[in-house]
Amino acid sequence: MRTMDRMTSLLRGMLVCALIVTTAVGAHAQRGGGATDRWGGWGGVVEPALRATLRPMDGAAIRGEIVSWTGEDVTIRDQGGAESLLRWDELDARQVYETTRRLIDTDNAGDWLRVGVLMLTLGEDGSGGFAERSFAVAARLDAATALVADAARRAHAAGGDPVKTLSATPESLNTAPDRSGANADEGPWPELSEAQRAVETARVRARAEAMVRGAGLALSQTDAGEFILFTDLDEKATKEAAAQLERMYRALVRTLELPAETRLFQGKAVVFLLTKRDEFVHLEREAFGVDPNGAIGMCHLRDADVFVVCHKAEDETAYMSTLIHETVHGFMYRYKSPAELPIWANEGLADYIAGFLLTNSLEPGRHWTQAKAFVRSGEDASDVLYQSYEDGTWPEKDSYAVSHMLVRHMLRRDARAMKQWIDDIKDGLDWRGSLRERFALTPNQLADDFAAAMTRESYYKR
Ligand SMILES: [Zn+2]
Repeated sequence: MRTMDRMTSLLRGMLVCALIVTTAVGAHAQRGGGATDRWGGWGGVVEPALRATLRPMDGAAIRGEIVSWTGEDVTIRDQGGAESLLRWDELDARQVYETTRRLIDTDNAGDWLRVGVLMLTLGEDGSGGFAERSFAVAARLDAATALVADAARRAHAAGGDPVKTLSATPESLNTAPDRSGANADEGPWPELSEAQRAVETARVRARAEAMVRGAGLALSQTDAGEFILFTDLDEKATKEAAAQLERMYRALVRTLELPAETRLFQGKAVVFLLTKRDEFVHLEREAFGVDPNGAIGMCHLRDADVFVVCHKAEDETAYMSTLIHETVHGFMYRYKSPAELPIWANEGLADYIAGFLLTNSLEPGRHWTQAKAFVRSGEDASDVLYQSYEDGTWPEKDSYAVSHMLVRHMLRRDARAMKQWIDDIKDGLDWRGSLRERFALTPNQLADDFAAAMTRESYYKR
Protein backbone atom coordinates (compact mmCIF):
# COMPACT_ATOMS: atom_id res chain seq x y z
CA MET A 1 0.00 0.00 0.00
CA ARG A 2 2.82 2.34 0.98
CA THR A 3 4.51 2.00 -2.40
CA MET A 4 1.19 2.63 -4.06
CA ASP A 5 0.70 5.85 -2.11
CA ARG A 6 4.12 7.10 -3.01
CA MET A 7 3.50 6.18 -6.63
CA THR A 8 0.20 8.03 -6.62
CA SER A 9 1.62 11.19 -5.13
CA LEU A 10 4.56 11.06 -7.52
CA LEU A 11 2.19 10.71 -10.45
CA ARG A 12 0.00 13.48 -9.13
CA GLY A 13 3.06 15.71 -8.84
CA MET A 14 3.99 15.03 -12.44
CA LEU A 15 0.43 15.65 -13.54
CA VAL A 16 0.24 18.99 -11.76
CA CYS A 17 3.54 20.02 -13.36
CA ALA A 18 2.17 19.17 -16.77
CA LEU A 19 -0.98 21.16 -16.12
CA ILE A 20 0.55 24.41 -14.92
CA VAL A 21 1.20 25.64 -18.39
CA THR A 22 -0.60 28.88 -17.98
CA THR A 23 0.22 30.51 -21.24
CA ALA A 24 -1.25 33.72 -22.44
CA VAL A 25 -3.55 32.84 -25.28
CA GLY A 26 -6.23 34.70 -27.13
CA ALA A 27 -9.84 33.64 -26.75
CA HIS A 28 -9.80 32.20 -30.26
CA ALA A 29 -6.75 30.01 -29.90
CA GLN A 30 -8.44 27.71 -27.46
CA ARG A 31 -11.57 27.08 -29.54
CA GLY A 32 -12.23 24.68 -32.32
CA GLY A 33 -10.36 21.74 -30.80
CA GLY A 34 -11.97 18.30 -30.74
CA ALA A 35 -11.91 18.52 -26.96
CA THR A 36 -14.36 21.43 -26.99
CA ASP A 37 -16.81 19.54 -29.22
CA ARG A 38 -17.15 16.78 -26.65
CA TRP A 39 -19.17 19.27 -24.63
CA GLY A 40 -21.43 20.16 -27.54
CA GLY A 41 -20.00 23.65 -28.03
CA TRP A 42 -20.51 24.55 -24.37
CA GLY A 43 -19.16 27.91 -23.16
CA GLY A 44 -17.93 30.81 -25.26
CA VAL A 45 -16.81 34.38 -24.93
CA VAL A 46 -18.08 36.07 -21.74
CA GLU A 47 -19.67 39.42 -22.46
CA PRO A 48 -19.36 41.51 -20.45
CA ALA A 49 -16.30 39.87 -18.90
CA LEU A 50 -16.93 38.46 -15.42
CA ARG A 51 -14.87 39.78 -12.51
CA ALA A 52 -13.25 36.90 -10.65
CA THR A 53 -10.25 35.73 -8.68
CA LEU A 54 -9.06 32.25 -9.59
CA ARG A 55 -6.76 30.34 -7.28
CA PRO A 56 -4.98 27.46 -9.01
CA MET A 57 -4.18 24.67 -6.53
CA ASP A 58 -0.54 25.07 -7.46
CA GLY A 59 0.28 28.68 -8.20
CA ALA A 60 -0.56 32.25 -7.36
CA ALA A 61 -4.09 33.66 -7.38
CA ILE A 62 -5.07 35.50 -10.52
CA ARG A 63 -7.30 38.52 -10.03
CA GLY A 64 -9.04 39.88 -13.10
CA GLU A 65 -11.86 39.11 -15.52
CA ILE A 66 -12.99 35.85 -17.09
CA VAL A 67 -13.16 36.47 -20.83
CA SER A 68 -14.05 33.01 -22.16
CA TRP A 69 -14.50 29.39 -21.15
CA THR A 70 -15.24 25.88 -22.43
CA GLY A 71 -15.99 22.50 -20.83
CA GLU A 72 -12.23 22.01 -20.52
CA ASP A 73 -10.86 25.35 -19.37
CA VAL A 74 -11.32 29.00 -18.51
CA THR A 75 -9.43 32.09 -19.72
CA ILE A 76 -8.85 34.95 -17.28
CA ARG A 77 -7.33 38.35 -18.10
CA ASP A 78 -5.38 39.82 -15.19
CA GLN A 79 -5.29 43.49 -14.22
CA GLY A 80 -2.17 43.97 -16.35
CA GLY A 81 -4.07 42.69 -19.41
CA ALA A 82 -2.27 39.32 -19.69
CA GLU A 83 -4.50 36.33 -20.41
CA SER A 84 -4.05 32.94 -18.74
CA LEU A 85 -5.69 29.69 -19.75
CA LEU A 86 -6.46 27.45 -16.78
CA ARG A 87 -7.75 23.93 -17.13
CA TRP A 88 -10.68 23.29 -14.78
CA ASP A 89 -8.71 20.53 -13.07
CA GLU A 90 -6.13 23.08 -11.93
CA LEU A 91 -8.80 24.56 -9.63
CA ASP A 92 -10.38 22.86 -6.66
CA ALA A 93 -13.90 21.49 -7.07
CA ARG A 94 -15.65 24.23 -5.08
CA GLN A 95 -14.07 26.98 -7.20
CA VAL A 96 -15.06 25.22 -10.40
CA TYR A 97 -18.62 24.83 -9.16
CA GLU A 98 -18.88 28.44 -7.96
CA THR A 99 -17.33 29.78 -11.16
CA THR A 100 -19.32 27.73 -13.69
CA ARG A 101 -22.53 28.59 -11.80
CA ARG A 102 -21.88 32.23 -12.57
CA LEU A 103 -21.03 31.55 -16.22
CA ILE A 104 -23.93 29.32 -17.28
CA ASP A 105 -27.55 30.14 -18.04
CA THR A 106 -29.01 28.99 -14.73
CA ASP A 107 -32.46 28.39 -16.27
CA ASN A 108 -31.00 25.90 -18.71
CA ALA A 109 -31.20 22.20 -17.71
CA GLY A 110 -28.50 21.24 -20.22
CA ASP A 111 -26.07 23.71 -18.65
CA TRP A 112 -26.62 22.24 -15.19
CA LEU A 113 -26.27 18.73 -16.60
CA ARG A 114 -22.87 19.71 -18.03
CA VAL A 115 -21.75 21.26 -14.74
CA GLY A 116 -22.61 17.92 -13.09
CA VAL A 117 -20.62 15.97 -15.66
CA LEU A 118 -17.69 18.38 -15.28
CA MET A 119 -17.78 17.85 -11.50
CA LEU A 120 -17.72 14.07 -12.09
CA THR A 121 -14.59 14.41 -14.21
CA LEU A 122 -13.02 16.27 -11.27
CA GLY A 123 -13.76 13.32 -8.99
CA GLU A 124 -16.83 14.91 -7.37
CA ASP A 125 -19.09 11.90 -7.12
CA GLY A 126 -19.98 11.56 -3.44
CA SER A 127 -23.60 11.97 -2.38
CA GLY A 128 -24.37 15.59 -1.59
CA GLY A 129 -21.38 16.59 -3.71
CA PHE A 130 -21.34 19.24 -6.42
CA ALA A 131 -22.07 16.73 -9.21
CA GLU A 132 -25.24 15.53 -7.48
CA ARG A 133 -26.34 19.07 -6.66
CA SER A 134 -25.99 20.07 -10.31
CA PHE A 135 -27.83 16.97 -11.56
CA ALA A 136 -30.65 17.67 -9.11
CA VAL A 137 -31.11 21.22 -10.45
CA ALA A 138 -30.99 19.91 -14.04
CA ALA A 139 -33.65 17.27 -13.27
CA ARG A 140 -35.91 19.88 -11.66
CA LEU A 141 -35.70 22.00 -14.81
CA ASP A 142 -36.07 19.04 -17.18
CA ALA A 143 -36.70 15.53 -15.82
CA ALA A 144 -35.36 13.97 -19.03
CA THR A 145 -31.81 15.06 -18.13
CA ALA A 146 -31.86 12.41 -15.38
CA LEU A 147 -31.34 9.77 -18.05
CA VAL A 148 -28.07 11.32 -19.17
CA ALA A 149 -27.03 11.98 -15.55
CA ASP A 150 -27.49 8.28 -14.80
CA ALA A 151 -25.46 7.25 -17.81
CA ALA A 152 -22.74 9.73 -16.80
CA ARG A 153 -22.62 8.43 -13.21
CA ARG A 154 -22.38 4.86 -14.44
CA ALA A 155 -19.67 5.67 -16.99
CA HIS A 156 -17.71 7.48 -14.26
CA ALA A 157 -18.14 4.62 -11.75
CA ALA A 158 -16.92 2.14 -14.38
CA GLY A 159 -13.78 4.21 -14.99
CA GLY A 160 -15.09 5.49 -18.34
CA ASP A 161 -15.50 9.01 -19.65
CA PRO A 162 -18.75 10.62 -18.45
CA VAL A 163 -18.43 13.43 -21.03
CA LYS A 164 -19.22 10.94 -23.80
CA THR A 165 -22.73 10.45 -22.44
CA LEU A 166 -23.54 14.07 -23.34
CA SER A 167 -23.53 13.28 -27.04
CA ALA A 168 -26.06 10.44 -26.64
CA THR A 169 -29.53 11.96 -26.61
CA PRO A 170 -31.97 10.22 -24.24
CA GLU A 171 -34.14 8.93 -27.10
CA SER A 172 -31.21 7.36 -28.85
CA LEU A 173 -30.61 4.96 -25.97
CA ASN A 174 -33.92 3.30 -26.80
CA THR A 175 -35.24 2.82 -30.29
CA ALA A 176 -38.43 1.56 -31.85
CA PRO A 177 -37.97 -1.59 -33.93
CA ASP A 178 -37.08 -1.27 -37.61
CA ARG A 179 -40.15 -2.74 -39.32
CA SER A 180 -39.07 -1.88 -42.86
CA GLY A 181 -38.93 -5.58 -43.76
CA ALA A 182 -41.71 -6.75 -41.44
CA ASN A 183 -44.45 -9.11 -42.57
CA ALA A 184 -47.39 -6.99 -43.73
CA ASP A 185 -49.88 -9.85 -43.46
CA GLU A 186 -51.10 -9.67 -39.88
CA GLY A 187 -52.50 -13.21 -39.81
CA PRO A 188 -51.17 -15.69 -37.23
CA TRP A 189 -47.65 -17.09 -37.58
CA PRO A 190 -47.80 -20.73 -38.71
CA GLU A 191 -46.93 -23.42 -36.16
CA LEU A 192 -43.71 -25.19 -37.19
CA SER A 193 -42.91 -28.88 -36.79
CA GLU A 194 -39.56 -29.94 -35.30
CA ALA A 195 -38.26 -30.77 -38.80
CA GLN A 196 -39.41 -27.42 -40.24
CA ARG A 197 -37.72 -25.56 -37.39
CA ALA A 198 -34.43 -27.27 -38.17
CA VAL A 199 -34.73 -26.24 -41.83
CA GLU A 200 -35.63 -22.65 -40.85
CA THR A 201 -32.75 -22.46 -38.36
CA ALA A 202 -30.29 -23.48 -41.10
CA ARG A 203 -31.83 -20.89 -43.45
CA VAL A 204 -31.66 -17.96 -40.99
CA ARG A 205 -28.12 -18.98 -40.00
CA ALA A 206 -27.04 -18.83 -43.65
CA ARG A 207 -28.79 -15.46 -44.00
CA ALA A 208 -26.88 -14.06 -41.00
CA GLU A 209 -23.57 -15.55 -42.17
CA ALA A 210 -24.06 -13.78 -45.52
CA MET A 211 -24.63 -10.47 -43.65
CA VAL A 212 -21.41 -10.91 -41.68
CA ARG A 213 -19.48 -11.78 -44.85
CA GLY A 214 -21.05 -8.89 -46.76
CA ALA A 215 -19.90 -6.47 -44.05
CA GLY A 216 -16.40 -7.99 -44.13
CA LEU A 217 -16.50 -8.88 -40.43
CA ALA A 218 -15.05 -11.89 -38.63
CA LEU A 219 -17.41 -12.99 -35.84
CA SER A 220 -17.69 -16.26 -33.96
CA GLN A 221 -20.99 -18.09 -33.75
CA THR A 222 -22.65 -19.52 -30.65
CA ASP A 223 -25.97 -21.33 -30.37
CA ALA A 224 -27.83 -20.30 -27.20
CA GLY A 225 -31.33 -21.76 -26.80
CA GLU A 226 -33.69 -19.79 -29.03
CA PHE A 227 -30.91 -17.55 -30.28
CA ILE A 228 -27.82 -17.67 -32.50
CA LEU A 229 -25.17 -15.21 -31.33
CA PHE A 230 -22.64 -13.72 -33.76
CA THR A 231 -20.04 -11.90 -31.72
CA ASP A 232 -16.49 -10.77 -31.08
CA LEU A 233 -17.04 -10.81 -27.30
CA ASP A 234 -14.94 -13.11 -25.12
CA GLU A 235 -16.41 -16.36 -23.84
CA LYS A 236 -17.48 -14.99 -20.45
CA ALA A 237 -19.33 -11.96 -21.89
CA THR A 238 -20.94 -14.18 -24.54
CA LYS A 239 -22.23 -16.57 -21.87
CA GLU A 240 -23.54 -13.66 -19.84
CA ALA A 241 -25.48 -12.30 -22.82
CA ALA A 242 -26.85 -15.77 -23.62
CA ALA A 243 -28.03 -16.20 -20.02
CA GLN A 244 -29.81 -12.80 -20.02
CA LEU A 245 -31.53 -13.60 -23.32
CA GLU A 246 -32.71 -16.90 -21.89
CA ARG A 247 -34.09 -15.13 -18.79
CA MET A 248 -35.86 -12.56 -20.96
CA TYR A 249 -37.45 -15.32 -23.04
CA ARG A 250 -38.67 -17.15 -19.93
CA ALA A 251 -40.00 -13.96 -18.30
CA LEU A 252 -42.15 -13.20 -21.35
CA VAL A 253 -43.30 -16.82 -21.64
CA ARG A 254 -44.50 -16.56 -18.02
CA THR A 255 -46.09 -13.11 -18.40
CA LEU A 256 -48.04 -14.28 -21.45
CA GLU A 257 -48.96 -17.56 -19.71
CA LEU A 258 -47.46 -19.69 -22.47
CA PRO A 259 -46.36 -23.32 -22.09
CA ALA A 260 -42.70 -23.47 -21.00
CA GLU A 261 -41.67 -25.30 -24.20
CA THR A 262 -43.04 -22.56 -26.49
CA ARG A 263 -40.81 -22.00 -29.54
CA LEU A 264 -41.58 -18.61 -30.96
CA PHE A 265 -38.98 -17.80 -33.60
CA GLN A 266 -38.83 -18.92 -37.21
CA GLY A 267 -36.08 -21.40 -36.31
CA LYS A 268 -34.03 -19.05 -34.14
CA ALA A 269 -33.53 -15.32 -33.66
CA VAL A 270 -30.14 -13.87 -34.59
CA VAL A 271 -28.27 -11.56 -32.18
CA PHE A 272 -25.12 -9.68 -33.23
CA LEU A 273 -23.00 -8.36 -30.35
CA LEU A 274 -20.10 -6.11 -31.32
CA THR A 275 -17.46 -4.48 -29.17
CA LYS A 276 -16.33 -1.91 -31.76
CA ARG A 277 -18.57 1.04 -32.45
CA ASP A 278 -17.45 1.44 -36.07
CA GLU A 279 -18.14 -2.23 -36.83
CA PHE A 280 -21.60 -1.94 -35.25
CA VAL A 281 -22.40 1.09 -37.42
CA HIS A 282 -20.92 -0.64 -40.49
CA LEU A 283 -23.02 -3.80 -40.02
CA GLU A 284 -26.16 -1.70 -39.49
CA ARG A 285 -25.54 0.10 -42.78
CA GLU A 286 -24.42 -2.86 -44.88
CA ALA A 287 -26.87 -5.50 -43.68
CA PHE A 288 -29.92 -3.39 -42.81
CA GLY A 289 -29.46 -0.05 -44.55
CA VAL A 290 -29.91 1.77 -41.25
CA ASP A 291 -27.87 4.57 -39.68
CA PRO A 292 -28.07 3.93 -35.93
CA ASN A 293 -27.12 7.54 -35.06
CA GLY A 294 -26.55 7.51 -31.30
CA ALA A 295 -28.28 4.18 -30.64
CA ILE A 296 -26.35 1.28 -29.12
CA GLY A 297 -28.86 -1.37 -30.21
CA MET A 298 -31.49 -2.02 -32.87
CA CYS A 299 -34.08 -4.68 -33.63
CA HIS A 300 -34.72 -5.48 -37.31
CA LEU A 301 -37.79 -7.39 -38.41
CA ARG A 302 -37.27 -9.00 -41.81
CA ASP A 303 -40.01 -11.26 -43.17
CA ALA A 304 -40.46 -13.92 -40.51
CA ASP A 305 -36.99 -13.34 -39.07
CA VAL A 306 -35.71 -11.31 -36.13
CA PHE A 307 -32.25 -9.71 -36.03
CA VAL A 308 -30.94 -7.79 -33.02
CA VAL A 309 -27.68 -5.83 -33.25
CA CYS A 310 -26.00 -4.38 -30.16
CA HIS A 311 -22.83 -2.44 -29.48
CA LYS A 312 -21.33 -3.41 -26.15
CA ALA A 313 -20.68 0.14 -25.02
CA GLU A 314 -18.63 1.20 -21.99
CA ASP A 315 -21.77 1.45 -19.92
CA GLU A 316 -22.45 -2.20 -19.04
CA THR A 317 -25.98 -1.67 -17.69
CA ALA A 318 -27.08 0.43 -20.67
CA TYR A 319 -25.75 -2.26 -23.02
CA MET A 320 -27.51 -5.12 -21.25
CA SER A 321 -30.71 -3.12 -20.85
CA THR A 322 -30.66 -2.25 -24.57
CA LEU A 323 -29.99 -5.87 -25.55
CA ILE A 324 -33.03 -7.03 -23.56
CA HIS A 325 -35.20 -4.10 -24.71
CA GLU A 326 -34.48 -4.75 -28.40
CA THR A 327 -34.93 -8.51 -28.09
CA VAL A 328 -38.34 -8.02 -26.41
CA HIS A 329 -39.37 -6.23 -29.63
CA GLY A 330 -38.32 -9.32 -31.60
CA PHE A 331 -40.24 -11.60 -29.24
CA MET A 332 -43.40 -9.48 -29.45
CA TYR A 333 -43.20 -9.47 -33.26
CA ARG A 334 -43.19 -13.26 -33.21
CA TYR A 335 -45.84 -13.66 -30.53
CA LYS A 336 -49.04 -15.02 -32.16
CA SER A 337 -48.98 -12.65 -35.19
CA PRO A 338 -47.06 -9.64 -36.58
CA ALA A 339 -49.94 -7.34 -35.47
CA GLU A 340 -48.44 -4.36 -33.58
CA LEU A 341 -49.17 -3.20 -30.09
CA PRO A 342 -49.59 0.60 -29.91
CA ILE A 343 -46.10 2.10 -29.73
CA TRP A 344 -46.38 3.16 -26.06
CA ALA A 345 -47.27 -0.42 -25.04
CA ASN A 346 -44.55 -1.92 -27.21
CA GLU A 347 -41.86 0.42 -25.82
CA GLY A 348 -43.22 0.34 -22.28
CA LEU A 349 -43.22 -3.46 -22.20
CA ALA A 350 -39.64 -3.61 -23.54
CA ASP A 351 -38.48 -1.19 -20.81
CA TYR A 352 -40.50 -3.00 -18.15
CA ILE A 353 -38.97 -6.41 -18.94
CA ALA A 354 -35.43 -4.94 -19.10
CA GLY A 355 -35.91 -3.19 -15.74
CA PHE A 356 -37.49 -6.28 -14.21
CA LEU A 357 -34.54 -8.52 -15.18
CA LEU A 358 -31.71 -6.09 -14.38
CA THR A 359 -32.12 -5.59 -10.67
CA ASN A 360 -29.21 -3.11 -10.51
CA SER A 361 -30.68 -0.92 -13.25
CA LEU A 362 -31.56 2.60 -12.14
CA GLU A 363 -33.87 3.10 -15.10
CA PRO A 364 -37.17 1.92 -13.54
CA GLY A 365 -36.74 4.25 -10.56
CA ARG A 366 -35.75 7.12 -12.78
CA HIS A 367 -38.70 6.54 -15.10
CA TRP A 368 -40.96 6.45 -12.05
CA THR A 369 -39.59 9.81 -10.86
CA GLN A 370 -39.99 11.29 -14.33
CA ALA A 371 -43.56 9.97 -14.73
CA LYS A 372 -44.43 11.26 -11.26
CA ALA A 373 -43.18 14.74 -12.19
CA PHE A 374 -45.13 14.50 -15.45
CA VAL A 375 -48.37 13.73 -13.59
CA ARG A 376 -47.72 16.30 -10.89
CA SER A 377 -47.20 19.08 -13.43
CA GLY A 378 -50.71 18.36 -14.72
CA GLU A 379 -49.66 16.82 -18.02
CA ASP A 380 -52.02 14.29 -19.56
CA ALA A 381 -50.81 10.71 -20.12
CA SER A 382 -53.47 10.23 -22.80
CA ASP A 383 -51.28 12.39 -25.06
CA VAL A 384 -48.68 9.61 -24.95
CA LEU A 385 -51.36 7.01 -25.78
CA TYR A 386 -51.99 8.70 -29.11
CA GLN A 387 -48.42 9.43 -30.17
CA SER A 388 -47.31 7.57 -33.26
CA TYR A 389 -44.09 6.93 -35.09
CA GLU A 390 -45.67 7.57 -38.48
CA ASP A 391 -46.78 11.16 -37.81
CA GLY A 392 -43.60 12.03 -35.91
CA THR A 393 -45.31 12.61 -32.55
CA TRP A 394 -43.34 9.73 -30.92
CA PRO A 395 -41.24 10.21 -28.87
CA GLU A 396 -41.66 13.31 -26.75
CA LYS A 397 -39.22 13.73 -23.88
CA ASP A 398 -41.45 11.89 -21.38
CA SER A 399 -42.79 9.23 -23.77
CA TYR A 400 -40.54 6.35 -22.71
CA ALA A 401 -40.85 7.04 -18.98
CA VAL A 402 -44.63 7.45 -19.03
CA SER A 403 -45.11 4.39 -21.28
CA HIS A 404 -42.90 2.26 -19.05
CA MET A 405 -44.92 3.28 -15.98
CA LEU A 406 -48.25 2.84 -17.82
CA VAL A 407 -47.35 -0.77 -18.63
CA ARG A 408 -46.23 -1.30 -15.03
CA HIS A 409 -49.52 0.20 -13.83
CA MET A 410 -51.61 -2.08 -16.07
CA LEU A 411 -49.67 -5.18 -14.98
CA ARG A 412 -50.07 -4.27 -11.32
CA ARG A 413 -53.73 -3.49 -11.74
CA ASP A 414 -54.55 -6.75 -13.52
CA ALA A 415 -51.83 -8.95 -15.06
CA ARG A 416 -54.41 -11.37 -16.47
CA ALA A 417 -56.30 -8.58 -18.23
CA MET A 418 -52.96 -7.33 -19.62
CA LYS A 419 -52.25 -10.72 -21.18
CA GLN A 420 -55.77 -10.85 -22.66
CA TRP A 421 -55.44 -7.31 -23.97
CA ILE A 422 -52.16 -8.19 -25.73
CA ASP A 423 -53.78 -11.37 -27.12
CA ASP A 424 -56.75 -9.39 -28.45
CA ILE A 425 -54.47 -6.99 -30.33
CA LYS A 426 -52.49 -9.90 -31.71
CA ASP A 427 -55.81 -11.40 -32.89
CA GLY A 428 -56.45 -8.22 -34.86
CA LEU A 429 -58.76 -6.32 -32.47
CA ASP A 430 -58.48 -2.58 -31.88
CA TRP A 431 -56.55 -1.78 -28.68
CA ARG A 432 -59.12 0.78 -27.49
CA GLY A 433 -62.04 -1.62 -27.83
CA SER A 434 -60.15 -4.36 -26.02
CA LEU A 435 -59.09 -1.92 -23.27
CA ARG A 436 -62.79 -1.26 -22.59
CA GLU A 437 -63.48 -4.99 -22.62
CA ARG A 438 -60.55 -6.17 -20.48
CA PHE A 439 -59.94 -3.23 -18.14
CA ALA A 440 -63.35 -1.51 -18.34
CA LEU A 441 -61.53 1.72 -19.23
CA THR A 442 -61.43 4.12 -22.14
CA PRO A 443 -57.95 5.44 -23.06
CA ASN A 444 -58.74 8.72 -21.24
CA GLN A 445 -59.89 6.81 -18.18
CA LEU A 446 -56.69 4.73 -18.28
CA ALA A 447 -54.70 7.99 -18.28
CA ASP A 448 -56.70 9.32 -15.30
CA ASP A 449 -56.45 6.01 -13.44
CA PHE A 450 -52.69 6.03 -14.02
CA ALA A 451 -52.37 9.64 -12.81
CA ALA A 452 -54.34 8.82 -9.64
CA ALA A 453 -52.17 5.77 -8.92
CA MET A 454 -48.96 7.73 -9.48
CA THR A 455 -50.22 10.47 -7.17
CA ARG A 456 -51.02 7.95 -4.41
CA GLU A 457 -47.64 6.22 -4.68
CA SER A 458 -45.24 8.24 -2.54
CA TYR A 459 -42.06 6.30 -3.25
CA TYR A 460 -40.90 3.85 -5.88
CA LYS A 461 -40.83 0.14 -5.21
CA ARG A 462 -40.14 -2.53 -7.79
ZN1 LIG B 1 -37.80 0.09 -28.32
